[in-house]
Amino acid sequence: MPPLFCKAAVLGYPVKHSKSPLIHNFWMKKYGLDGAYQAIETPPGTLGRTIENLRDQGYQGVNLTIPHKEDVMGLCTDIDPAAQALGAVNMLVFDEATQNIKGYNTDVVGFVDNIKIALPENKGFDFTKHNAVVLGAGGAARAVLYGLLQEKTPHITIVNRTFEKAQILTEQFSSLSKDTILTAAPWASLPGYLEQAGLLVNSTSLGMNGMDKMDGSSAVDLSSLPVGAVVNDLVYAPLMTDLLTRARTKGHPVITGIGMLLHQAAPAFERWFGVKPELTPNSAHEITGLL
Ligand code: NAP
Repeated sequence: MPPLFCKAAVLGYPVKHSKSPLIHNFWMKKYGLDGAYQAIETPPGTLGRTIENLRDQGYQGVNLTIPHKEDVMGLCTDIDPAAQALGAVNMLVFDEATQNIKGYNTDVVGFVDNIKIALPENKGFDFTKHNAVVLGAGGAARAVLYGLLQEKTPHITIVNRTFEKAQILTEQFSSLSKDTILTAAPWASLPGYLEQAGLLVNSTSLGMNGMDKMDGSSAVDLSSLPVGAVVNDLVYAPLMTDLLTRARTKGHPVITGIGMLLHQAAPAFERWFGVKPELTPNSAHEITGLL
């Protein structure tokens, strides 16, 4: 049973860029729920007080965005294993009866679920059969990496503009993987690793509106990527990035970043309000009109 009045919010600083209100309010309307999802500007230093206030006002939970994903961990009574491993919480659930605050990271499931359903013509994606190359070593890359490890990807190569960060990430995550070989590689060696890849994921901010310059790293040359390899860009503004446009021209199946955004939002919506939003490959089109 959904609550009589559904109340949730995203807390960030700044927060006006967040697409979460559009997505959650769209689903509330679609499923006939009474309530609202807000964006609340939350400067550092006010996070604890804001969370307590919202819990006391009967909110079911909140999302966290920059700069609160790490700091909020100290306010949680319980943290799920994915969030614990990543050192980042992007969603809280308030338990009205116990006053407990449980922290989750839904980016991992968002990334994995999206890849699995985004390509119905491939009848799902079997991670165990494809080596992956991940571009980036920031927060999003950590979620991607954890997801790929959970799905037992045979070999993952992390390539980052700042090579040392890729090395650190490899060291941090190698103890989590018995089934996977993890390699850090400098940007210049990318073509060689792409030869063996069945999945390429861009989790850098490269390709975002106004972020087309490579800043010291050369553009991703797709010429060595095997036929049929899937290319997923986490960037969703614009939806078709330069990388995806070039991949599609070369005949690769491509997956835009909007699906991960929806798939990370869906488990939050379900936990807060007790309704599971239906996600199909078409959902992105429904919502894209709102972005
Ligand atoms: P982050 O922690 O700031 O990391 C940024 C990453 O991008 C770093 O690896 C950085 O490399 C790299 N980078 C930045 N500018 C670059 C350039 N010009 N050339 C090459 N590499 C560059 O950011 P994040 O939170 O991981 O987010 C990364 C992207 O993923 C953003 O576009 C974000 O919107 C997107 N994202 C999408 C979803 C979704 O649901 N679709 C979810 C999360 C994030 P250095 O280490 O060398 O600085």
